[in-house]
Amino acid sequence: MLKIKTSSEEETIKLGKKLGSKLNPGDIVCLQGDLGTGKTTFAKGICAGLGVTAPVTSPTYKMVNEYRGELKVIHLDLYRIHEEDELYDLGFEEYIYGDGVAIIEWPDKAGSLMPDNYLDIHFQGQGDDREVRFIPQANKYIGLVAELKQDVDFNN
Ligand code: ADP
Ligand code: MG
Repeated sequence: MLKIKTSSEEETIKLGKKLGSKLNPGDIVCLQGDLGTGKTTFAKGICAGLGVTAPVTSPTYKMVNEYRGELKVIHLDLYRIHEEDELYDLGFEEYIYGDGVAIIEWPDKAGSLMPDNYLDIHFQGQGDDREVRFIPQANKYIGLVAELKQDVDFNN
């Protein structure tokens, strides 16, 4: 588990960017935390790290946005999902088990369709006192989080 404090939107974006540059095809990143804790801000950073140049906006209403960088990026926000049926209508599984990178805000709304293997990231705090925690939920993310820790320690 890696815990990092952030004190500005820029820091959150920079951290997301570092992670984004390390992601591989098929990776799934789950962003958890209350409204306004920085999930979408972090997703912007991930997209930047993957070379997305299009503006990244919150998918809250459409539930999914798709971007193209070095990889395809699927950005889902399940906040408005209330029943599993809605996930089938959305094509949730087709989106997340693709050959790109999937970013999921409010992943717990996926219920039984929640993936088994993913990089879990928790956001908490407000103002300039925030914390981001990285919890690898699959072996393949352990090395990635270790690399991220090194990057943050050396601030490069
Ligand atoms: P969420 O997707 O979790 O609801 P957002 O990323 O959309 O949250 O919103 C976070 C808000 O908090 C943004 O308006 C952002 O500018 C602000 N903010 C202030 N400090 C930070 C920080 N350290 N990290 C992320 N967002 C921050
Ligand atoms: Mg959001």
